[in-house]
Amino acid sequence: MNHKQALKHDIFKTISQSAKELNIDSYVIGGYVRDYLLQRGTAKDIDVVAVGSGIELAHQVSKNLPHQPKVQVFKTYGTAMLRYEDIELEFVGARKESYNEDSRNPIVENGTLQDDQNRRDFTINALALSLNKANFGELLDPFNGLEDLDKGIIRTPLDPNVTYSDDPLRMMRAIRFATQLNFEIEEKSLKAITANKDRIKIITKERIVTELHKILESDVPSTGFILLEKTGLLDYILPELTALKGIDEIEGQRHKDNFYHTLEVVDNIAQTTDNLWLRWAALLHDIGKAPTKKFHKKIGWTFHAHEFVGSKMVYKLFKRLKMPLNDKMKFVQKMVLMSSRPIVLASEVTDSAVRRLVFDAGEHVDDLMTLCEADITTKNPKKFKKYHSNFKLVRDKIVEVEERDRVRNFQPPVSGEEIMKVFNLKPSKEIGIIKEAIKEAILEGEIPNEHEAAYNLMIEKGKKLGLTIQD
Ligand code: ATP
Repeated sequence: MNHKQALKHDIFKTISQSAKELNIDSYVIGGYVRDYLLQRGTAKDIDVVAVGSGIELAHQVSKNLPHQPKVQVFKTYGTAMLRYEDIELEFVGARKESYNEDSRNPIVENGTLQDDQNRRDFTINALALSLNKANFGELLDPFNGLEDLDKGIIRTPLDPNVTYSDDPLRMMRAIRFATQLNFEIEEKSLKAITANKDRIKIITKERIVTELHKILESDVPSTGFILLEKTGLLDYILPELTALKGIDEIEGQRHKDNFYHTLEVVDNIAQTTDNLWLRWAALLHDIGKAPTKKFHKKIGWTFHAHEFVGSKMVYKLFKRLKMPLNDKMKFVQKMVLMSSRPIVLASEVTDSAVRRLVFDAGEHVDDLMTLCEADITTKNPKKFKKYHSNFKLVRDKIVEVEERDRVRNFQPPVSGEEIMKVFNLKPSKEIGIIKEAIKEAILEGEIPNEHEAAYNLMIEKGKKLGLTIQD
């Protein structure tokens, strides 16, 4: 079957013509072909293999395009990139690769298209479409990648032990593609990943995190985490999660398996938000449970202060994985720290408790509610319904309290400066005491969040503190 349809964009004709001018063959390969055949839409990243110099082809293509886009050359990799409209074109010369034990960077020689297909990670990523005049649009599929696409199988072109050992990043990629595409990893491959799991150590943290992000961004992220766990990779990458595995039983009292619970929460939240960092928060919300787990004869299993301990662990985990220690990290910490807060509200919704929640969660209160709703994994349909409807009440109440009291980004209605002026004070602890009293009164609903009421309370409180009003 011919696939000219995949190559109907003008850019492919330009590449074809440019290659002809250089007297070399060229092919589209990899993700673009895979996603087209899967009808996942056509990707904006297009990989082109030249049987010759990829860099020269890139320059020739640029010459033949309007405005001659800039060609970015990556000499070390022998690749070149250019942008055209919203498309990113990557050019590489067909190559043959061989590997060293301690590096995922291969020794490279020029090769044929088939050599180049051999070095690809999976059969579904080795599919190529010809850009050559004689067979424009023909699919070159030496490893039956099309059949694997059809059956939903991740399989390596060569012996999986060699493929994964050569470049251990492929283990992460296999699991990521299985998750994104809802494919199965071939048994032989799964065994090879398990056998080679230790080699993940030579992969940079940044690349591992890129794959983790893609797994978390998938529709059903648990697929990936279960595979990471099953192959033993998770122990290297996120031991905080494997520590949550298992159910202990003492004197007939059991706690739930917090690893599988966590994965359920992540799958739940994946249905309600695309916010990657909120998904991270779901993944990490219970990590403090492993180090805080205790059994008490009278009350059974407890995880005292696990939210606090967990939020501290988030920092260490981000640092270890070389993830930026920025606002996103702080957001995840905050979500973990507050992850149990709305639970009390699930049974009794009072105005003041909701006001305090909005005050503490600030602009992230909606995200926190989304996390808590995802955290409902009870298998008891009555409880499931009740918790959800109570959280719905909390959400309604948040809107109500918000309209009335505006505590989300709380600005004290009486400023420190005003207090100093009224009582003729220098900076002192009395100012803090008065401000705190006003804030507390607002949160408790004793006074409205308005200047006049706050002013009156300030006078009253100041008098009690023995302060005198300035004339
Ligand atoms: P996505 O854009 O979803 O990540 P993709 O398949 O386009 O999918 P890229 O990382 O852009 O992924 O890689 C492009 C192509 O390069 C792949 O389809 C594959 O053929 C090849 N490739 C990428 N990384 C590797 C690797 N580590 N080992 C072997 N081949 C690889």
